[in-house]
Amino acid sequence: MKRTWLTVDFDDHRHVPSAQGHPTRSTKPVLSTTLSEPYMVGLKGFERWLSSHQQPVTLFIIADLFTDVTFKGWLDNALEAFGDRLTVGCHGLTHRSWSAWPEDRDGFSKALGQATEILQHACGDRFRPWFRAPAGYIAPWMADVLAEQKYTVDSSVNPSWLVQKKAGKGNSWSDVTRAMSKAGVVERAWATRLTLPVNGPALSLFPLWLIAKGAWKKTPALLSVSTLDEAVEDPDVDLATLYWHVLDHGRNNGSWAPPLPALA
Ligand SMILES: [Zn+2]
Repeated sequence: MKRTWLTVDFDDHRHVPSAQGHPTRSTKPVLSTTLSEPYMVGLKGFERWLSSHQQPVTLFIIADLFTDVTFKGWLDNALEAFGDRLTVGCHGLTHRSWSAWPEDRDGFSKALGQATEILQHACGDRFRPWFRAPAGYIAPWMADVLAEQKYTVDSSVNPSWLVQKKAGKGNSWSDVTRAMSKAGVVERAWATRLTLPVNGPALSLFPLWLIAKGAWKKTPALLSVSTLDEAVEDPDVDLATLYWHVLDHGRNNGSWAPPLPALA
């Protein structure tokens, strides 16, 4: 039976491609490295949402967030308060859009190594060798680097024609999935509907949100805390992978919640 995996990406405004990390999209740099006001509201809203149910969630965290002590303090508290419901994966060192640039195995390898060390140190046994490419920019050449650094799962492919170019010049999404499989990395592609994106920004962009909300309301039962690790890492388990941003929780004065069916 198909199950649902809930995941949240931890980008602040300073991380996204419009601010940095992309060769053509980064035109509005954000110089401050402290957490933005909407992000702080988002963290509080996310905590409130977590307190309203008992389900597990995987957080994809950008390692450079730890330069801010406020973030480290928030995460320590959250890992303590929500126990084994929270697991942490890697969302890059600085949220660079790797596949939008020419192939750079050494650069990616170095950044991934640093990010892994920081996350392992900060999250201890909650860290998982699971990767989500910043802004979904994942190319086939990145698969070997993930495998070399003992990553078991990649969750970066948004298998929609609308964002095909994020697979890197001349590549298709199936090229990425094939490369992951060859490298022994399980690909957890994001759920789509009618071949359109329904995750992340699609939750708030008109007209995609109309389709997204309908899809989210019909999600299969969620993975439980005790089955999550095994299911995510087992390529034979069919999963619907959903993701949103912690910044989304800053919408509507912190009252935003993902459009899921009622959670127990
Ligand atoms: Zn991101």
